[in-house]
Amino acid sequence: MPIEEAHRKLVESIFPVSGEERVPLADAAGRVLAEPMLAKIDLPAFDNSAMDGYAIRRRDLSGGRSLKLAGKSFAGAPFENPVSPGCAVRIMTGAAIPPGADTVVMQEYVRVKGDRIFIGNGVEEGEHIRRRGEDVQTGSELLASGQQVTTAHIALAAAAGIGSIVAIRRPVVAVFSTGDELQQPGTALTAGGVYDSNRVALVSALRQMHVEVLDLGILPDDPLQISNALENAVTKADVIITSGGVSVGEADYTREVIEALGEICLWKIAMKPGKPFAFGRVRDTPLFGLPGNPVAALVTFYQLVVPALEKLRGLTPKAQTSLHARLISPLKKKIGRVDFQRGFYARNQQSELEVAAVGQQGSHILSGLAKANCFIVLPRDSGDQSAGNQVEITPFLSPFA
Ligand code: AMP
Ligand code: MG
Repeated sequence: MPIEEAHRKLVESIFPVSGEERVPLADAAGRVLAEPMLAKIDLPAFDNSAMDGYAIRRRDLSGGRSLKLAGKSFAGAPFENPVSPGCAVRIMTGAAIPPGADTVVMQEYVRVKGDRIFIGNGVEEGEHIRRRGEDVQTGSELLASGQQVTTAHIALAAAAGIGSIVAIRRPVVAVFSTGDELQQPGTALTAGGVYDSNRVALVSALRQMHVEVLDLGILPDDPLQISNALENAVTKADVIITSGGVSVGEADYTREVIEALGEICLWKIAMKPGKPFAFGRVRDTPLFGLPGNPVAALVTFYQLVVPALEKLRGLTPKAQTSLHARLISPLKKKIGRVDFQRGFYARNQQSELEVAAVGQQGSHILSGLAKANCFIVLPRDSGDQSAGNQVEITPFLSPFA
């Protein structure tokens, strides 16, 4: 199946989770709003000074350049009285403009002598005042429902008087690996053993995506145990991610178990790496069956699962940024599948984008993925590429960057 079709089908068959919860603002980064964020106050909340200086009535300067000091306005301790004609108030950055004043003169333009100040030329009416509501108005929408909260939104919300947000519930994502050879990293490796790198990488990537991760460990290549584990997982998780056992080997049971408990909706994608990727349902729970090969597992996760999980979280999946770069060394490419070769791109001295594949491109070569900063995306019908060709690249984004 072409990857574009797989991508579309996957996103179409995933729906945002239901349920919402109130989240303190400091914990809101990355969460998706279930209700719009509305400003509780005007920002600024009152006219205030942008400078340390003197608040004056501009028209008083037409009668002379000297004014009488009448008091002080500090941030948090305003001068409450109206400014009388011929008077000025010493004012600090952020302090409220006293009633009657319409202009702030920077202190650098003022000479002080006793209780009088002398002001230079060129003072414009209204200058250095931050106006009430010029940034945000009470009740205005700071961020719409369905949008993801960033650090800047948190600053904006806090400034506008918001202490917490209502977020869409974090989906629960169950993850397990399948394979008799798999062992927990950090333990002593036995003969023929392979460390389970997929699960720890997936758990880590998922944590960065603001979902709740249910780490279900390693399963042997045993249909009964896989079946029991899936039956258990569907009672707890919104979606399940497995790796391994979806290919055509004699120990590949994941697909057959999914078919017994639900259905396989798509299998075998025209992409490299990642051809054996499967998607289906166990009972009513969507399941992503990633290939076991470590690079294939992570590439299919990034290309196919991440957009589906964004939709599950309540977001609209966004297209990856696609750029063009000049190949600095030739590439091997077989016609028939889209290649996601692991590349490293940079600007040369002429500021042009250049890219080269990193290392071998086998679906087990993790060091290449670790050194890469982009995919070189070679279309299905393209063949070998020569140095100098312009190729499409997609720079890594979170959780790869
Ligand atoms: P499979 O898809 O189960 O046929 O596995 C393909 C290859 O990926 C085999 O070499 C497996 O040992 C390896 N593999 C499978 N699962 C994992 C995993 N969780 N971590 C690392 N390698 C794996
Ligand atoms: Mg296996």
